[in-house]
Amino acid sequence: MSLPLSLAHKEANRLDTLRRLNILDTPPTEAFDRITRMAAQMFNLPIAAVSLTDSNRQWFKSRVGVEHDSIPRMKAPCGQVADDGMLLVINDLQQDDCYRDSLLAESGIRFYAGAPLVTHDGYCLGAMCVLGTFPREISPAEGAVLRDLAAMVMAQIELQHALGRVDPLSGLPNRNQFIDDFKDMSADCVHGEARLAALINLASPEQLSNALRAMGPAYLDEIVGEAVRLMAQTFGVHSIVYHVTPTEFAFIAPQGTDPAAFRATLESWLQRRAASTTSRFVTTARIGVAPFEVGVTTHTDLLRNLHSAVQHSLDQDCEVSTFSQEQDVLYRRRFLLINEFGAALDVPEDGASQLRLVFQPKVDLASGACIGAEALLRWTHPGFGEVSPGEFIPIVERTSMLRATTSWVLEAAMRQLAQWRLEGVELELAVNVSAVNLMEPDFCERVVDGLRRHALPPSCLELEITESTLMQNPKLAEATLASLNAAGIRLAIDDFGTGYSSLAYLQSLPVQVVKIDQSFVRGIEQDERKRSLVSAMIKLSHDLGHRVVAEGVETEGVAQVLRQADCDEAQGYLFARPLAPEAFAQWFKVQNGVEEQQDSLQPA
Ligand code: C2E
Ligand code: MG
Ligand code: MG
Repeated sequence: MSLPLSLAHKEANRLDTLRRLNILDTPPTEAFDRITRMAAQMFNLPIAAVSLTDSNRQWFKSRVGVEHDSIPRMKAPCGQVADDGMLLVINDLQQDDCYRDSLLAESGIRFYAGAPLVTHDGYCLGAMCVLGTFPREISPAEGAVLRDLAAMVMAQIELQHALGRVDPLSGLPNRNQFIDDFKDMSADCVHGEARLAALINLASPEQLSNALRAMGPAYLDEIVGEAVRLMAQTFGVHSIVYHVTPTEFAFIAPQGTDPAAFRATLESWLQRRAASTTSRFVTTARIGVAPFEVGVTTHTDLLRNLHSAVQHSLDQDCEVSTFSQEQDVLYRRRFLLINEFGAALDVPEDGASQLRLVFQPKVDLASGACIGAEALLRWTHPGFGEVSPGEFIPIVERTSMLRATTSWVLEAAMRQLAQWRLEGVELELAVNVSAVNLMEPDFCERVVDGLRRHALPPSCLELEITESTLMQNPKLAEATLASLNAAGIRLAIDDFGTGYSSLAYLQSLPVQVVKIDQSFVRGIEQDERKRSLVSAMIKLSHDLGHRVVAEGVETEGVAQVLRQADCDEAQGYLFARPLAPEAFAQWFKVQNGVEEQQDSLQPA
């Protein structure tokens, strides 16, 4: 029998609602069985059931006195309850024209009463029913009891459903609900309509982990509670905010929202939060905005784009970022690089390593002699080709791979240094370490152990630490710096001038070398201001007892100016680019006249 179109549509929606409740074909639950038992007892009848009307069957979520877990929908009174949405009482099936030849009547059932199971949006899912083997009537009071029992069943169904859809902490709909509602938009809105969504992130992973460590898990409850209260105040009670991860909230801007107005609303939430946040809650919220097209963009893509925009906000330290395709390409590459770098590090020592060191000479400006070198890491990826350390080091620095990376570099550098010493190439080798390495409690011990294993004096090793990262947490790094210093290992501040260094720290840090950043050195011949600045840096460093190295020296003119300013050492393309070990040894011997001396020792 085919249904008229509007009825067919209603039935399709009803079935859709039933399926989305995820209750069909689930195992029996005591919460439902308790109600069914009560129904059988109250009516003093042998059979009771919670019967759900699927497309062509009645499926029993709970049953007393019935063996099967489902019967055909055709000619089942519960199916009629689902269609009509009303209480149905059949005093005697044998006397009823419609059900006289039904399966129930054939199996000896005479009495049926069923109350509709109605969702709050009006769909009838089936019936709470009681059945007997003798004809019977029910009083209005019994009818009311059956309706109450049906309402209890519905409350239980909706409660169970809500458990998987609502975040228990905030009480907001969760990620599952976001996905369902997002899919529903395709049915309700114009296909391809341009809309905006936002993702609010309450704290960076580091902030969260630090705060949880310091204040315990209740801290998360507090920041979430406060953020949610302010969201309701800012976005209005009618905007649905979804709690999609423990610290993230998504929401979709109303139709026709202007991007600038949307951004302004988000910013006003940030301002409210900043104004009301107590000092205990010092986390910085970041927001990502992403445009999408209804019915075209998938929920997976939208959530990914939102995360990418949030990540951009975190990286750039800006409050609100809008998703862009170009950034996304960068983030994907970064993600791939992180994954692939682990593999590069894992290559066994005898295998073909993707990692290698190159060495750039450091030259004494007065004599022109090469007195040292800086070890620089190189990564040749099988697919991407050469990846610059300027790109991968900052990524690796944020991961736990940093420890292994620095260990790899130190080991390779010391091995090379030991080999060169055997060949008569005596020099000081500088290795770049990240400030994060200085937080490792055993860092100094590992370096000293490495020197011992390679039979190297500590004076031939220098560690370079960039100024900006060192200054982020100078106190924490201090202990490691002091131990390294005590062990006789020289320390250098790299990229000096680029951070916001406090001169007081420069004085108190146990460093011996200051490396002036390339940006101050480049073009110094033509730039009077730069010249004064670099002269002042050199003088100040000398006064504090440090040696000064200038980086990025590319022309003789620059070297000349640096010599006049009394700079001690220089490094740059003017002297040599970073070189492979063999090429470096060759260059070193020529530069320092080692070859000639050896030649002169040769018998004529
Ligand atoms: P950095 O330590 O300041 O190294 C100097 C950078 O300047 C090197 O780039 C070097 O090749 C480049 N350079 C040297 N002379 C000149 C010049 O005359 N002109 C120009 N334009 N550039 C010059 P590279 O090798 O790409 O390294 C970039 C940064 O990556 C390094 O800056 C350092 O911070 C980091 N890095 C490299 N290797 C390692 C490593 O093994 N560990 C750590 N933690 N960081 C590393
Ligand atoms: Mg360096
Ligand atoms: Mg540098």
